Amino acid sequence: MLSTLIYRSQLAGSVSPEQLKALVECARVKNAKADVTGILLCDGQHFFQVLEGSVDNVQRVYQRISTDNRHFNLIELLRDYAPARRFGNAGMALFNLGDYPQHVVMDALLKQVTLNEERIRDDRVVKFLRSFIEGRDKETFVKIDPASEWTLTTPSLIPAHPAFQPAAGQHCEFALQPIVDVANRQIISWEALIRGQRGASPADYFAQLPEDERYQADLDAKTYAFQLAQHLGLREQTLSINLLPMTLVMSEDAVGHLIAQIRQHGLRPEQIVVEVTEDEIISRFDAFHLAVRQLKAAGISLALDDFGAGFAGLSLLADFQPDKVKIDRKLITDIHRSGPRQAIVLAILKCCQALEITVIAEGVEKIEEWLWLERAGVRYYQGFLFARPALNSLPQVCWPARRSA
Ligand code: C2E
Ligand code: MN
Ligand code: MN
Repeated sequence: MLSTLIYRSQLAGSVSPEQLKALVECARVKNAKADVTGILLCDGQHFFQVLEGSVDNVQRVYQRISTDNRHFNLIELLRDYAPARRFGNAGMALFNLGDYPQHVVMDALLKQVTLNEERIRDDRVVKFLRSFIEGRDKETFVKIDPASEWTLTTPSLIPAHPAFQPAAGQHCEFALQPIVDVANRQIISWEALIRGQRGASPADYFAQLPEDERYQADLDAKTYAFQLAQHLGLREQTLSINLLPMTLVMSEDAVGHLIAQIRQHGLRPEQIVVEVTEDEIISRFDAFHLAVRQLKAAGISLALDDFGAGFAGLSLLADFQPDKVKIDRKLITDIHRSGPRQAIVLAILKCCQALEITVIAEGVEKIEEWLWLERAGVRYYQGFLFARPALNSLPQVCWPARRSA
């Protein structure tokens, strides 16, 4: 099957026209062996390349290109399939934008495209080329530092707080993971994550309960999270707790009970953030909305968890605006390499900015992901990069720091 891949990258330093020619000549020989054709555009600061050939060969060539240290910040913009090549005659053509006056550059490029006029008009690859040539892609192109300029601070080995000893016979416990404001090196919240016997995951913990007991167990378990928070002390941080949305509506007094538990453990409702995932919300929206009003009236904040992973997505925000949105890990993973993920996250950021909703990026594991998100305007993070959840205690946090030269 004929596949097409487009990526864009930042040049690591300046490349002279001669070096560019040599680079493409070398690529031409290698690509010809793999029967990969395409075009390489250069505007002096960026590369923009179309690769076409069999799925495996395009992947192999792209992998090799990714390791070339003459460029970095490679972003995959498109991966598609087509009946015919766009650059069937070209081998690997070089197209240096500086060689053409602005008003003829697109026509000159189109002369190299081996599609008929009708196909050219609607072709996504051609549209991408046009966007690069006209500089429109800059709106969504977030420039980042090379990751090699950054490192992580190592936390001291001595735990800052004594761990909490849960009472004997407690059927579940909690691990805590911080939500951090990296620019200010502050922990803004501790998220309490439920653990079953011998550290069992939340999914396993809930799976071993009969279905009709899950909501009650979810609600009752929060008592242990409040105990833990009371023991460790919250200072200026909030405590984020997870609830199935239907836990809040299973009985008339679920919210009242929760608020009473919060107060009993010396906490104020303003210190609590309730996180819910969007999935269950949409099935019983009205009942859920009523519970939300009670929570908000008491001073508790609401976060929409795993945003972008469920069915509703942005349309849910039309009917209900939480205080915080946590962007799901699936959108965050390798965001620095994926054009589609970047476009979606930029749209979420824009939307949440207009609605004054705080955005948190979840599941950040790589410094490159954080670099991209930071430059895109995200301020709050949660992820293994900064700290892993710690059972019954507060984990130490690693902060990104610029390497000294
Ligand atoms: P969540 O609320 O989105 O919590 C974040 C989950 O992602 C946690 O998994 C955490 O360990 C994991 N995580 C955090 N950073 C990273 C990262 O950088 N990489 C990766 N791969 N994972 C990361 P955990 O503890 O297994 O929890 C899974 C889910 O279970 C939670 O997702 C939450 O939806 C649910 N959950 C946890 N505690 C409770 C609870 O008390 N009640 C209810 N109803 N659900 C809970
Ligand atoms: Mn959560
Ligand atoms: Mn989540």
